[in-house]
Amino acid sequence: MCGIVGILGKTPVATNLVDALRRLEYRGYDSAGIATVEAGTLTRRRAEGKLRNLEKRLLTEPLDGMIGIGHTRWATHGRPTERNAHPHMTAPVAVVHNGIIENFRELRADLEAKGHTFETDTDTEAVVHLITHEMQNGLGPVEAARAALKQLRGAFALGIIFAGQDDLMIAARQGSPLALGHGTGEMYLGSDAIALAPFTDTITYLEEGDWAVMHRSGAEIFD
Ligand code: GLU
Repeated sequence: MCGIVGILGKTPVATNLVDALRRLEYRGYDSAGIATVEAGTLTRRRAEGKLRNLEKRLLTEPLDGMIGIGHTRWATHGRPTERNAHPHMTAPVAVVHNGIIENFRELRADLEAKGHTFETDTDTEAVVHLITHEMQNGLGPVEAARAALKQLRGAFALGIIFAGQDDLMIAARQGSPLALGHGTGEMYLGSDAIALAPFTDTITYLEEGDWAVMHRSGAEIFD
């Protein structure tokens, strides 16, 4: 079980996302990546192997968004390649996930039949297309995420951001720990409090089955 981080910041978040991921390195991982919303558009960088490979990529191809999610992966479905590294995304949605989506095969088959094209071998990508599908059916991002979460089976921690949404992140916990960190006009998400230690010591642990709608001003938690 590896690492998830998220930051709704007041300045570009890429460097802090990688620092937070470094604090989760002790869990082990095979690849890493981050995504941010820049001028309304989701952009991401991923790399196989150690975080320094991701950092090198960010030096030549920086990300400037002030909201972002990051991930260290321990591959369970699909080889540990850059293509399978998280975040996974479509134009409107980016997702990081720890754990296993047990019903991903059924979800994927159904979504492919409805015209969605998958790019990876992961179980996680089904979550991205599921949320995308709900949005294409007319739901807003929060309602789409809620509708998708209801359809997932398995153990997961999720962090989700959306194109065109500079002040919205969704977190969900079912079987994999996840903590929210409260800053001053900033919010954080992490697999544990250690990841968030440099930023805040005001932490809310999500309970089993919780999901949260996060803004810079705070978070609403639902069960
Ligand atoms: N099952 C997902 C994958 O293989 C997430 C693995 C993890 O927890 O890092 O990509």
